[in-house]
Amino acid sequence: MPSYKAPLRDMQFILFDVLKVQDSGNAIASYAEASPDVVAAILEEAGRFCENILQPINRSGDEEGCTFEAGSVRTPQGFKEAYAKYAEGGWTGLACDPEYGGQGLTSPVNFAVEEMICSANLSFGLFPGLTHGAYNALRAHATDELKSTYLPKMVDGSWSGTMCLTEPQCGTDLGLIKTRAEPVADGSFRIHGTKIFISAGEHDLTENIVHLVLARLPDAPPGVRGISLFVCPKFLPNSDGTMGKRNALACGALEKKMGIKASPTCVMNFDGAQAWLVGAPHKGLPAMFTMMNAARLMVGIQGLGVAEAAYQGAVTYAKSRLQMRAATGTKFPDQPADPIIVHPDIRRLLMKMKAMTEGCRALALWIGHELDIAMSHPDAERREAADDLVALMTPIVKSMLTDHGFSAANDGVQVYGGHGYIREWGMEQLIRDSRITQIYEGTNGIQAMDLVGRKLSMGTGRLARRFFHPVGAYLEQMSAVPAMVEFVAPLAKAFGRLQQATLWLGKAGLANPDDAGAAATDYLRMFGLVAIGYMWCRMAETALTSNTDIFHSAKLECARFYMAKIIPETGSLLSSITAGSASLMALNEEAF
Ligand SMILES: Cc1cc2nc3c(=O)[nH]c(=O)nc-3n(C[C@H](O)[C@H](O)[C@H](O)COP(=O)(O)OP(=O)(O)OC[C@H]3O[C@@H](n4cnc5c(N)ncnc54)[C@H](O)[C@@H]3O)c2cc1C
Repeated sequence: MPSYKAPLRDMQFILFDVLKVQDSGNAIASYAEASPDVVAAILEEAGRFCENILQPINRSGDEEGCTFEAGSVRTPQGFKEAYAKYAEGGWTGLACDPEYGGQGLTSPVNFAVEEMICSANLSFGLFPGLTHGAYNALRAHATDELKSTYLPKMVDGSWSGTMCLTEPQCGTDLGLIKTRAEPVADGSFRIHGTKIFISAGEHDLTENIVHLVLARLPDAPPGVRGISLFVCPKFLPNSDGTMGKRNALACGALEKKMGIKASPTCVMNFDGAQAWLVGAPHKGLPAMFTMMNAARLMVGIQGLGVAEAAYQGAVTYAKSRLQMRAATGTKFPDQPADPIIVHPDIRRLLMKMKAMTEGCRALALWIGHELDIAMSHPDAERREAADDLVALMTPIVKSMLTDHGFSAANDGVQVYGGHGYIREWGMEQLIRDSRITQIYEGTNGIQAMDLVGRKLSMGTGRLARRFFHPVGAYLEQMSAVPAMVEFVAPLAKAFGRLQQATLWLGKAGLANPDDAGAAATDYLRMFGLVAIGYMWCRMAETALTSNTDIFHSAKLECARFYMAKIIPETGSLLSSITAGSASLMALNEEAF
């Protein structure tokens, strides 16, 4: 079983040495309170919780799974106790508004804690993750009365949240939603319909479950313009805040699935369940997007968490597994063979995992910081710039980090050879668990279409300029620093390719929408590789100016690896992007 150690040093290096988030303390109150010492203590405590409470029930949770009996769902042994400790420790309210009992901590700190939770136990991470998403949507769009009824309980962890979008006939295309909401005289609504694939739709961790449901009002226009958002609790709260009668909704079945087996994926039947409108009628989708945008970043963090766990497992094994001798001559003559870490092909896997994981972490924490600036900075222009950057980068963070999570899990299994494929070592679980992250919250293909079809053209390219201008200026500035040239030159080359691909998309994509669709996934990856390359330059720049120890010299070596072995992929991506859609679309459908 891989044992997990929270990567606290790297998190603190990125937050305080590279991003210097503490400087935002002058402008944003939550940053003034989150001094490096305070954050270090919180991360250390969270790391201990994940290592000692969540990781030990990860494997058993996978093997036992959830149980469905007479409409109730039982989580695997140990989950209830772990959740109670999690809520008692105040972790459910870490990044929530103090007005509702939260601790008001910053997003990057919350991201770092989420990463540790998902490294230790991805299934467990889904419960508080979804609650936080539902909290965000209610806080942004619900009436004060609804907020005061629901938010304090969600923040203290006694109630959990869900997000009910998917139906049998609609996943990506929410315009096909059939679930109905009938208005009743007291101002509430009755929900009728079936939702499928609802994570944490029913379970035994909390006393109540707050469902956020997308449904159609009787006068709804067709398509996505006719969807409204409702809050629909499992138990109806009384006016004094106590729990009232059971609502007319129930879990009809649990899905049997590939991974995240300790997270119940439910069919939810709403049979006239009482619900209340959140936000304006027919404006449910934009309201749900408040939840989904934050949730997309969180799903990216899930991928990152799995990648770190896979990397740690692979390194431990590669140092201890003895097979063959190093090609350049025996390295450990007193052993019957050398450890596999001496072999370049194993190094290739480990270095790819390390460079991508640390680069993805820096990218996520950077965007987490910008998220807070977008919400709370006193300067309106700075807020708008940050908001644009977060909107642009959200599909990139979601896709790059989840693709990397799956790829790292796969590489981790490869390092273990056959021992990775069998259950004993826990590596195959990481592959099964991480696979869903590339699918839910909008598949990664849909994220790429969001980037290419919406984000690039928004504000006539204003969002894209929020990335291109500062990175261009950084490259110019750093190319004058001799020690940085080895890092900046490959990034500049990739950046040039990204600019070329963006111009090509602007022209070809407009002329033929299939060209844009065909290029989208490659383009998102290219953008992600450049963004991570930018992060590696900034980490290298910081490492060069720090007191060099093994941590900093490893950063420099890793940055060199990234520039030599990973960022050149942008060359083949450019060729594929500009090859257009003709070769994809040529084959007649009958020929498949
Ligand atoms: C374990 C699990 C947990 C989940 N949790 C939740 C939850 O809590 N709440 C919830 O509401 N849903 C949940 N989902 C549902 C999930 O969000 C959907 O499965 C996902 O959005 C994709 O929808 P779909 O499965 O219907 O695929 P489809 O929409 O049918 O898509 C099939 C394929 O076609 C592609 N595609 C579709 N349209 C286009 C297009 N225009 N261009 C290019 N490609 C396209 C997709 O990318 C995908 O590859 C969960 C699913 C699973 C398996």
